[in-house]
Amino acid sequence: MYSKAKLSFFGNPSELASESWHMFNQSMRLSRRYPDDEEFYLRRSLDHLLNCFWYYQNSRVGLSILMHAIGRYLNINHGCPIDQNIGYHRTQCPNMLLHLDFGFSIRAKEKYICSICLSDPLDCIHRAGRIYDDVKCQYFMNQCNICGEAKDNCKHVENILYNQVLASNIVSAMDIITWDIVSEPLDVFTRIYDKPIYPDEIYKEHYGVNWKDFYGNLPLNCDHCLTCHKYDPNKNKKIKKLEKLKSLS
Ligand SMILES: [Zn+2]
Ligand SMILES: [Zn+2]
Ligand SMILES: [Zn+2]
Ligand SMILES: [Zn+2]
Repeated sequence: MYSKAKLSFFGNPSELASESWHMFNQSMRLSRRYPDDEEFYLRRSLDHLLNCFWYYQNSRVGLSILMHAIGRYLNINHGCPIDQNIGYHRTQCPNMLLHLDFGFSIRAKEKYICSICLSDPLDCIHRAGRIYDDVKCQYFMNQCNICGEAKDNCKHVENILYNQVLASNIVSAMDIITWDIVSEPLDVFTRIYDKPIYPDEIYKEHYGVNWKDFYGNLPLNCDHCLTCHKYDPNKNKKIKKLEKLKSLS
């Protein structure tokens, strides 16, 4: 079983964080206005708070207390069954993910192709910035090589020749050079967003019993927020230690 991680984030982190705070407040208001959809809006509010949690590093403990209080309310009033639809237990619950307080640091190199002939710019005769005639319209990753627009927005016809076409280099792929697990990634949102759950991990930690002995094959309910009340910044010491060792070597 493996966890899934976001490896890149496109956008402005501070904008996303303040937008998320705004959306959190809005979801809370909506949860009160529409009691029938309370669970939906409260779970949404946790998703928004997780973005704030990663971005506002100095407010993490306070935000985690708020998140666990909402989680407790959800558990008691709506229940937190764990997703079993792909054969084993997984969670995307923000209150579980916030404890995985590490991220990924990635160095990648972009690969380009020539917009005129769609081959490696080092192998072709075209030069970016120059104008060419008799260029065949082709689509690369759904993008038109004549105007650069997505197929739906462009008026060119595939395989027809066009004149006066500006050559450019198009990003075709990313080569990952190195990656690392770090406690505070430069890109604050490159985190685990989906993790496997080991039933015994939950039940042994909180109740000191094996889940199978206790519940047998009943659907698994996440009772994390009943016993956990906040984030402990000192728990990921292992990663911090590794980083320290690396910086010394
Ligand atoms: Zn939960
Ligand atoms: Zn070319
Ligand atoms: Zn086009
Ligand atoms: Zn917790």
